[in-house]
Amino acid sequence: MTTLLTDDAVRRSMINCSKGDAKRMTVADAVVGTDLETVEFAGWTDPRMPQRAYLVTLHEGAVTGVLLRPAAGGGARRTAMCALCRTTHTDGEVTLVTAARAGSAGREGNSVGTYVCTDLACPATTRLERKPSASVTPDLGLPVEERVAGLRVRVDGFLAAVRGSEDAARTPA
Ligand SMILES: [Zn+2]
Repeated sequence: MTTLLTDDAVRRSMINCSKGDAKRMTVADAVVGTDLETVEFAGWTDPRMPQRAYLVTLHEGAVTGVLLRPAAGGGARRTAMCALCRTTHTDGEVTLVTAARAGSAGREGNSVGTYVCTDLACPATTRLERKPSASVTPDLGLPVEERVAGLRVRVDGFLAAVRGSEDAARTPA
């Protein structure tokens, strides 16, 4: 089974922004054609609006996307860990992002925050598909399939919090 992302599918998947925002977003070329059955999510920063980033995943069987707003000032200035893939970066390349909650909660100003790898490449980093560097240390205490499973669970938890499902209050941001 494959779930290949198209430009249109990405725009339609957005759950926490207006239709206008979804229309204006830039869907990166690298994202189109991504198979969400093989990676936990596709994530990218909008090349035309660097204060916006996106995360699109298969959540409860449906392609689901969220608009993320990186905190002003970009990455942390010290060693920090990505809350999704648990990779430690010593170069500040972890960013606090906030996502407006879906629906009325979001319109009332409620949001969910999390720390993520600034490049949003958690699936590749978790699988050690990128060249390791001195400043990027994936959680090597676990075998790769457990790291991938953990990433999946934490991405789902984040999406559930944005969607505001019953468990949201108990999901640490
Ligand atoms: Zn990460």
